Parts: sequence; structure tokens; C-alpha cells
Amino acid sequence: MKIPALLAVLFLALSPVAAGAAGPAGAAVPARAAVPAAAAWSWPLDPRPAVLRTFDPPPKPWLSGHRGVDLRAAHDGAPVTSPAAGTVSFVGVVVDRPVITIDHGNGLRSSFEPVQSGLLPGAAVAKGDILGSSRPGHCGPIPCIHWGVRRGGEYLNPLAFVMDLRPSVLLPLEPGPG
Ligand SMILES: [Zn+2]
Repeated sequence: MKIPALLAVLFLALSPVAAGAAGPAGAAVPARAAVPAAAAWSWPLDPRPAVLRTFDPPPKPWLSGHRGVDLRAAHDGAPVTSPAAGTVSFVGVVVDRPVITIDHGNGLRSSFEPVQSGLLPGAAVAKGDILGSSRPGHCGPIPCIHWGVRRGGEYLNPLAFVMDLRPSVLLPLEPGPG
């Protein structure tokens, strides 16, 4: 009889506490405990940008994927702001594109590219402080920036920090044993 299990799943699905605190066991969702409450961070562009390309991490670290999100900028040269307080940990050119990385503490880092910045490593930034300006090239002719968030070596979905993505926690539900 599977009805009790089904009821348990429904309870999980309908319970905001259960859904918000942690995904169901076994769900491979990187939105676990250390992700702050939804909307705790601010969007790095103003007005709120369209998402041109979503987070699509590769199944293996050496495979290609999209380890962040592409956000539409109003125009090339648009100001890019820090989504949360932190410290500049890197400013420079990676391969052929300008990158700035902010260490938010708790192992969380944001990287933005292509973004030209006059800040220096070690500089403290507050939420909403301007980090630099967007540069062309990441989305073809469309002005955009790429925003990546890592905790240690694990890439997270940046949108989880600025939007309420909790319903997506329910999608990877797998049938339990039996
Ligand atoms: Zn990208």
C-alpha cells in the first residue's frame, strides 16, 4: 500500500517549513542549508534584469555547462552592484575577459564577468555598492553579465539568492525504496 508514502510526500510539498528547510532526502539540489533565505541578496543590475541563460551546471566538473546565470544589462557599461556585503578577492582578466570576485564570507563567492572594475583586492563592499561596469561579449550582441556563485568548489544557482526558488525543490523528488 503506497498511500501513506504519498500522503507524506504531499505533506512535504504543502509544508513551507519542510520545503524551505531542506529538500526531501536524496534530492540533489544545491539549495541546501547554507543558502540564505530567498531574496536575502539584491540583483546585481538595476532595473531587475531578465535572465538570458539559466544555471546549468555540468554533471561532472570537467564537462561543459553553464556555471552561473546570464543577466541582461540595460546597456554595455551598465553599473554592476554587489548583491551582498563582502570583500573583493579578485580583480583581473581571465583568458580574455575582465572578472571581479567578491568573497561574501561563509565560503560564498560571487564572480561577475565581463565586468571592468577599478576596485582592488581587499576592498570592502556593502550590498548595493557599485563593483564596476558591464562590458560586451558574453551574450553576443546583447548586453549582459555572467554571475556565478560558489561555495567552496561547488557552483550554486545565483537566482536562489535573489528569488524564491523553493517550488523547484519539489521537482527532483525520487520514489523512495519500495
Ligand atoms: Zn554565462
